[in-house]
Amino acid sequence: MNEHLQAWRAALLWFDADGRALYEEDGLLVTQREPDGIHRVHAIGDYQALKSQFQQLKPTHWPDRLIAPGFVDMHIHYPQLDVIGSPAEGLLPWLTQYTFVQEAKFSDPVHANDVAEFFLDELLRHGVTTALAFSTSHTPSVHALFTAAQNRNLRLITGKVLQDQHSPDGVRDQTEQSLRDTESLINRWHGVDRLGYAITPRFVPTCSEAQLRGAGEIASTHPSTWIQSHVAENLDEIKWVHQLYPKARSYLSVYDDFGLLRERAVYAHCIYFDEADRRLMHERKASAAVSPTSNMFLGSGFFDYAQAQETKMLHGLASDVGGGTSFSPFHTMLEAYKVGREGQSKTGLSLSPENLWWQHTAGAAEALGLQGKIGNLEVGCEADFVVLNPKATPLLARRTSQASNLSELLFALIVLGDDRVVEHTVIQGDITAPRSLESH
Ligand SMILES: [Zn+2]
Repeated sequence: MNEHLQAWRAALLWFDADGRALYEEDGLLVTQREPDGIHRVHAIGDYQALKSQFQQLKPTHWPDRLIAPGFVDMHIHYPQLDVIGSPAEGLLPWLTQYTFVQEAKFSDPVHANDVAEFFLDELLRHGVTTALAFSTSHTPSVHALFTAAQNRNLRLITGKVLQDQHSPDGVRDQTEQSLRDTESLINRWHGVDRLGYAITPRFVPTCSEAQLRGAGEIASTHPSTWIQSHVAENLDEIKWVHQLYPKARSYLSVYDDFGLLRERAVYAHCIYFDEADRRLMHERKASAAVSPTSNMFLGSGFFDYAQAQETKMLHGLASDVGGGTSFSPFHTMLEAYKVGREGQSKTGLSLSPENLWWQHTAGAAEALGLQGKIGNLEVGCEADFVVLNPKATPLLARRTSQASNLSELLFALIVLGDDRVVEHTVIQGDITAPRSLESH
């Protein structure tokens, strides 16, 4: 028997190509370390049906546990670890009073390394196995997160923030130097092991025209890199962009005019869009990182799921820590459900538990252009997954024992779940031992 195979037995959740949930109550997951060094799913299905093919394997057996794809966080700021939970009157005061103050500390590599390690511990403890993360405008912050992720063999994407105007001393960068730094960071890290680079203009107001144009040029020279930014989050922000670009059709179109809308371009929020904006996102194959805990916390507004679905705009879920209030995918999915339900400012709809879960796994992977690689457990997908305990708390145990189908089970987990549900996070065949679990 192939010594590169590993087997895991538990209930299994994964998704087909159309985003439909697949489930085995007593399943077998077989992973294989392939010649390129990556562990991928080799087989998945009913334990009884598959066991004869893998007789010599001794599966790790997790009775009463659910194996599901590792969660994918489409938008998070690792340097905002110490900003989470800061009170402010809205997005712009929150940025100046808290965010920029914390981010200025990341010129120090020692501080950056320390926060990067804590940040990755926290992601894994919550079952998040891939993130598209902002660093800061300082190159040491990028090196720190890539190095920490590489040491843990994670698939992770980050980039140096570009912000050469309307930003205080300590976080503001220099136009030409910022573009040179971006190029050299791409050459150093993009495609190394499981790492990817994201060109990262903070948002329109903090980037000069020259910087946005330069970012767009780099994006076209390096088409496999990602682009990450923010758009249409808040009405004051939109007014500001309109003053800066009075001739632009919309906030989103400013990015398009600089060549920053394309496949693998991920825009957080996308709340105040019109139909033309959503169509443009769809045409360019750009995607929305829906950040419901952040939008509720900062009072920004409600992402319009009905319109996003209608125009087939790519979208998936994100925590947006530190504007977001939790690393937990369960909290994010629950807030996404509430945002979907809101029916005063837009059409309200009831997102299914399977769809919410998909938006944070296989759907998020698709929105990042990583479908078939992460966020799912189909054969060929990279073997990053979580082992969930549906009975992690007395109330969960009581509630999930009455679930009569998959929807009811998943919805109880979404509503009542948090990091206590995540018993293990498995990265490439290795069971991680999150810090807080060790100390409990
Ligand atoms: Zn953000």
